Amino acid sequence: MLEMRDVSFDYGSGVPVLEHINVQIEEGEFIGLGGRNGCGKTTVTRLLMGLEKPAAGDIMYNGKVINHEEAAVRSHFMGYVFQRPERQMFRPTVQAEVAYGPQQLGMSRADADDAVREALESTDLTSLADAYPPNLNRGEKQRVAIASAIAMHTQYIILDEPTSGQDSADKQMLMELLTALNQKGMTILLITHDMDILAQYCKRVLVIGNHTKAFDGTPEELFTQREDLYGLGLSRPEAVTLSLAVPGMKYCCSMKEFTAEILTK
Ligand code: ADP
Repeated sequence: MLEMRDVSFDYGSGVPVLEHINVQIEEGEFIGLGGRNGCGKTTVTRLLMGLEKPAAGDIMYNGKVINHEEAAVRSHFMGYVFQRPERQMFRPTVQAEVAYGPQQLGMSRADADDAVREALESTDLTSLADAYPPNLNRGEKQRVAIASAIAMHTQYIILDEPTSGQDSADKQMLMELLTALNQKGMTILLITHDMDILAQYCKRVLVIGNHTKAFDGTPEELFTQREDLYGLGLSRPEAVTLSLAVPGMKYCCSMKEFTAEILTK
């Protein structure tokens, strides 16, 4: 389990960014992190990754304080996909990029080769194994970063706005990949501004507002019970709005579900 225990943080100017955040992330969860621009979402993930240290409170992994464990050490159990994944790629080919982590872990050559092959297969990158990473499109680069985590057999994967600027086919492909990884047991935490992603794919939503945790629950609770969605920088997905407008209809988290439901009426 990954935990933020009473964590506060500022970037040194004394202006608080996060105050007294308590969050527990169990293995196997699929969590969306939302909130308005500048509320501190990226900061939360940077703290979890070890790219920033808490001003107060602790980051814990399986009950042990890891505040002073560097990002490189945490990368053994936590993969991170940056908003601009090209910033985390330094090798001449996709294959070499994905192989770097397993080599650092000291896996045997045969185990590393297997891990890389499986990671490329599950991210649909086998045909791009020899490609030069900077030449890939954004969706492909993101999949390379995800493949790097898979090859290291990390338990967690944290993604910062993975679908922003992508067309809907790429977005769906990425979300289906993350869902499949989650079904195999990988824990997913993703930052998103996309309400449909929060509603459709996430099992739990965390919202940061006013420097602290403003919501922690299911997407259904968020979108049906919170009256201050706009204040939190969120909005209700169209499918949810439509399903609530039809008397007697169940909560629908996607237009596909809504359409199927209305056809049975
Ligand atoms: P979000 O991801 O929710 O948009 P961030 O975590 O990026 O928010 O930023 C939270 C706050 O911290 C914002 O007010 C932002 O301007 C500030 N901030 C982010 N990075 C830095 C930095 N390196 N130095 C100073 N302030 C920063």
